[in-house]
Amino acid sequence: MPGNAVNGGGSGAPGAPAASHLRARGVTRHYGGALPVHALGPIDLDLVRGEFFAVVGPSGCGKSTLLDVLAGLSPPSEGEVVFEGAPVRGEVPDGIGAVFQEDASFPWLTVRDNIAFGLRRTGVDAAEIRRRVDYAVGFMGLKDFSAAYPAQLSGGMRQRVCIARTLVLQPRFILLDEPFGALDQQTRLLMGDELLRLWRETGATILLITHALDEAAMLSDRVGVMSARPGRFIDSLTTGWPRERDSRIVAEPAFGAVTARLWSLLRVESLKAIGTAGAAAP
Ligand code: ADP
Repeated sequence: MPGNAVNGGGSGAPGAPAASHLRARGVTRHYGGALPVHALGPIDLDLVRGEFFAVVGPSGCGKSTLLDVLAGLSPPSEGEVVFEGAPVRGEVPDGIGAVFQEDASFPWLTVRDNIAFGLRRTGVDAAEIRRRVDYAVGFMGLKDFSAAYPAQLSGGMRQRVCIARTLVLQPRFILLDEPFGALDQQTRLLMGDELLRLWRETGATILLITHALDEAAMLSDRVGVMSARPGRFIDSLTTGWPRERDSRIVAEPAFGAVTARLWSLLRVESLKAIGTAGAAAP
């Protein structure tokens, strides 16, 4: 059974699949156990190099599962994921970095050592590690905190450390799973600005999973809307924002139109997810 397609900026046109930075075809994920779950798909997805793609969908529809499969953290049950022309299977390929909601900083390491942690395991030489960590510390506004421990930082600062830790690995494709979910609204907006700056500066392709429709609408070039579980893409909405954008876009009339459209697409699926689909009409 073919997946329902979500194609980036024309890259999915027949005869042009090589343009996809990341391509997924017919991807599904089932979990076994006493109560087997069909969590995801089938899904088709094409991401253009350098695009900012957000994924929204009802709770439990398979968003985190999708991220795990695309990043190579877990294998699909069926289908195939291809990153930069090579199949993703069994491990996270070089060039892919992931950031998660939970605070993944190590409490016993300073900010600087947290940021260098993954890099030290890659065989990069000490001078290059120093250079990259200096850059990430500066870029994420952590200079005054580089000798601090996570417990001495706010939630927003700790999440910056986690982003910096991914940034030093110089990923070309960054996947983020609800990275700002635990933060207050103002901090989320400002962290969104930082993420946009990082996206522009690095030229990376970004896939952001979020439950916040305003976050998806503000940050992305394109939003993929998922159905209730098993999650499939039911629509894809192009925001049309310029590359130079920031959180002030929330004041634009077009912003309200994008979030309203997202909610109209998601409302019925969200009611299905909480088991009250009968109340969805009209
Ligand atoms: P979302 O991120 O959209 O909230 P998830 O991808 O976390 O959804 O989960 C999708 C479905 O798969 C849910 O029903 C969840 O309970 C189930 N699920 C997720 N991980 C596992 C697992 N390791 N084992 C069994 N079921 C799982």
